[in-house]
Amino acid sequence: MFVDAHCHLSFPEFAEDRREVIDRLKGAGVGLLIDPGTDVESSKKSIELAASFDFIYANVGLHPHEAAHPVEESVFEELAKLARSPKVVAIGEIGLDYHYADYNAKAQEEAFRQMLRLAGTLDLPVVIHCRDAWEDMLRILDEEQHSGVRGMMHCFSGDSSIAERCIKKGFKLSIPGTVTYKRSLLPEVISQVSLQDLLTETDAPYLAPVPYRGKRNEPAWVRMVTESIAQIKRIPLEEAEEGVAHNTVELFNLPLL
Ligand SMILES: [Zn+2]
Ligand SMILES: [Zn+2]
Repeated sequence: MFVDAHCHLSFPEFAEDRREVIDRLKGAGVGLLIDPGTDVESSKKSIELAASFDFIYANVGLHPHEAAHPVEESVFEELAKLARSPKVVAIGEIGLDYHYADYNAKAQEEAFRQMLRLAGTLDLPVVIHCRDAWEDMLRILDEEQHSGVRGMMHCFSGDSSIAERCIKKGFKLSIPGTVTYKRSLLPEVISQVSLQDLLTETDAPYLAPVPYRGKRNEPAWVRMVTESIAQIKRIPLEEAEEGVAHNTVELFNLPLL
C-alpha cells in the first residue's frame, strides 16, 4: 500500500468533493493517510476526519505562520486538550518558517518550543515544518532533546548534509511531490540515505507533482512520489512501497492495518 503521511484532506479545498478524492486514493492503492492540524480549528477538523475513516489518523499542531505574534496561553491549553483525542498520533505541524520577509522568529521559536514540550509530555513524535531555518531548527532540537524528540521532517527541503543531521537526531525525511521538479535537491538526498529514513507525502492541496504541477494536489498522487523513490534507489516499486509503509507504522506507532 502507498502512504500519504501528510495531507490536509480536512481543509476546505476538499469540501466539495472529499468523497471522490477518497475514492480515487483508494483506487490508487493508498492505504494510510495522516491529516495534520495547523491551528486549533484545523486540528479539530483533522480529529473529526480521522474519527470517520479507519485509514486516517490525525495530528494536532500549530503552524509557524500562526506565530506572527506571540501565541496566547489559551491556545496552547486548547491544543494540549485536543492532543489527547483518539487517533492523534503526533504533534504537528509545528516548526519554523523564515521564507516570507515579515516572519517573527522569536514568536515562532517560543511556539515551537512549547509544542515540542507538549509532544514530550505525551510521548508523541513531532511533524516538523521547516523552511529556510535549518540552523535554528537543529539548535532548538538539540536544546530540547530532554523531551525525547523524534519524528518527521515534512516536505523535507534541505541538502544531503542537513539530511544526515536530521536523521542523527531521530528524524525521518518525508518526500513530497517536489521530488519530480527539475531543480529538486531531493533525488540526490534520496540516493544518499537509507530507505529506512524515508516517508512519503503529498501535502495536498499544495505541491502537486509533475505532470499536475500548479493544480490542486490530491492524495492519490502520492504514488508518483513512491515511484520516484524506487527509480532513484533502483529498487522495485513494491520494495519502496512496503519500506515506506513500515517506516510510517513504526514512527507513529500505528496498529498494523
Ligand atoms: Zn508545512
Ligand atoms: Zn502541511
